[in-house]
Amino acid sequence: MRIGVLALQGAVAEHIKMLSDLNTEAMPIRFPAELNGLDALVIPGGESTTISKLLSDYNLVEPIRKLASQNFPIFGTCAGMILLAKKVVDFDLEPIGVMDIEVRRNAFGRQVDSFEADLAIPTLGNGSFHGVFIRAPIIEGVGPSVEILCQLNNVTVAVKQEKILACVFHPELTGDLRFHRYFLDFVIGDAVAKGNC
Ligand code: GLN
Repeated sequence: MRIGVLALQGAVAEHIKMLSDLNTEAMPIRFPAELNGLDALVIPGGESTTISKLLSDYNLVEPIRKLASQNFPIFGTCAGMILLAKKVVDFDLEPIGVMDIEVRRNAFGRQVDSFEADLAIPTLGNGSFHGVFIRAPIIEGVGPSVEILCQLNNVTVAVKQEKILACVFHPELTGDLRFHRYFLDFVIGDAVAKGNC
């Protein structure tokens, strides 16, 4: 399986390492042509304004929208999730906008208000998942096709919409592979259907 990690800015190497630890072929993606032949795409955290500008500069917005419309698996973490949202409060730039969620940036406060918390994510099993929140956004609203995977103090922090997965925290900064493995489960389903494995 070939998984692309959008490599314009942010926590790219950490996602590639996690995906490699899960025995997939993970590669950085900067140009539209590099999207060809992928089984899935990860959009990492970083700075959503910067990534958004670079997405337009590199002509990546439309190709990623097109893939999403074809039920292609995409996983967005933190800023990556912001870019996937259809609605971003107080955001001048145009997100990719393929996930029916409304998000608010920096909703827990500034850099100094970053924190870690143990999360219950039933779909990953019984053990708690360590969430690293770095100037994290929150998910304020979800459409009917969106499944809530995790809440922290009644705030939605992880969601799934068909093959699109998103969370406001950083699973790639922990040693816990379960969130990435869960994402790969969608992809493996696809790869089997396409005859790739
Ligand atoms: N606050 C950042 C933004 O709005 C996201 C932070 C992150 O990805 N860790 O882009």
